[in-house]
Amino acid sequence: MLQDRDRIFTNIYGMHDRSLRGAQARGHWDGTKDLIGLGRDKIVEIMKASGLRGRGGAGFPTGLKWSFMPKESDGRPAYLVINADESEPGTCKDREIMRHDPHTLIEGALIASFAMGAHACYIYIRGEYIREKEALQNAIDEAYDAGLLGKNAAKSGWDFDLYLHHGAGAYICGEETALIESLEGKKGMPRMKPPFPAGAGLYGCPTTVNNVESIAVVPTILRRGAEWFAGFGRPNNAGTKLFAISGHVNRPCVVEEEMSISFEELIETHCGGIRGGWDNLKAVIPGGSSVPMIPGKDMRDAIMDFDYLREQRSGLGTAAVIVMDNSTDIIKAIWRLSAFYKHESCGQCTPCREGTGWMMRVMDRLVKGEAEVEEIDMLLDVTKQVEGHTICALGDAAAWPIQGLIRHFRDEIEDRIKHKRGIRPAVAAE
Ligand code: SF4
Repeated sequence: MLQDRDRIFTNIYGMHDRSLRGAQARGHWDGTKDLIGLGRDKIVEIMKASGLRGRGGAGFPTGLKWSFMPKESDGRPAYLVINADESEPGTCKDREIMRHDPHTLIEGALIASFAMGAHACYIYIRGEYIREKEALQNAIDEAYDAGLLGKNAAKSGWDFDLYLHHGAGAYICGEETALIESLEGKKGMPRMKPPFPAGAGLYGCPTTVNNVESIAVVPTILRRGAEWFAGFGRPNNAGTKLFAISGHVNRPCVVEEEMSISFEELIETHCGGIRGGWDNLKAVIPGGSSVPMIPGKDMRDAIMDFDYLREQRSGLGTAAVIVMDNSTDIIKAIWRLSAFYKHESCGQCTPCREGTGWMMRVMDRLVKGEAEVEEIDMLLDVTKQVEGHTICALGDAAAWPIQGLIRHFRDEIEDRIKHKRGIRPAVAAE
């Protein structure tokens, strides 16, 4: 279990002063100039050694991603873009950073931008995050007033501007290339890759897109050292991590914990246990709505990290842990996700545009108990037609929860069909 002295986010619950003065009292902006003085190569080297993997869901090594940015400028500016479009159902960890600990992010933005040769950074914040936007903008203004941003930022010799861009409420703008399109003033639709953003991103310039948490942990990693951060979690799954635990636990919460903590310890220590006890646990979606669920009986001893959960044919994703007890209509829960993904599909590629509609319509019939048993395999086949055949990962995200449902709860689906004990969805499917 993580000790208080090892927490990076010291104000995640908003118990302390989030202003610049309060942040400085907690150690932020301390020696920022010296951290930048380490130089680009050294900072990237430390980030690689720390083992930090991206906290936005994919888990790509952060230091390695930074190293893809060109070392020498070819005349084009470089950009850091911070993805604060936190819209994945169940995910609400970055929100806590932005509204309670915004200076961790701002300081991280300066250092990370320097390490990638960027004089400008854009934070793209979710449209529904109104108070978070206000808190973050206030903190940015404070940092400018204090000389921590702008010309010769934090007396480092590096000129750096930070812009906050407010999204308009589209889930797909959390996909990095759709986000870039949106920042450029266009409709938020994912781009074909390659080219990857490091080669041609924002305005056709070298760009790295990182998650809020990935950037906010950077200053502390540099201050305390790569070894310190790498000392948490299992190999290849290093560090501390924010978990957002929702659903049928006694105390839902967002908490910073050690990577690779067991699911049982996470829930018992921070959430007061499963509602109704462990025997009442039906299933868990361990990493935000895009990853397949795992049955409750397999979760108690689960290790909460990238590699273990991938071996279970699921994933850590954003570490948004959605807990469902035996009162859950599991078919309806996944039907609701299907409706979400159909609604959020940008529609530019056929398997996703058409497939999400087909999946939702069959799910609609399953949840009502009106489908034929044969439709279960047909639905599975549709998910396979979508998975891996789309421009961006939304297609996979729509397919995987259904695959998990069929893999683990086929009996329940068949039972509903056979007994025609349909439960009509409370929300209209279309
Ligand atoms: Fe758009 Fe879906 Fe294709 Fe992604 S997979 S580009 S959301 S249609």
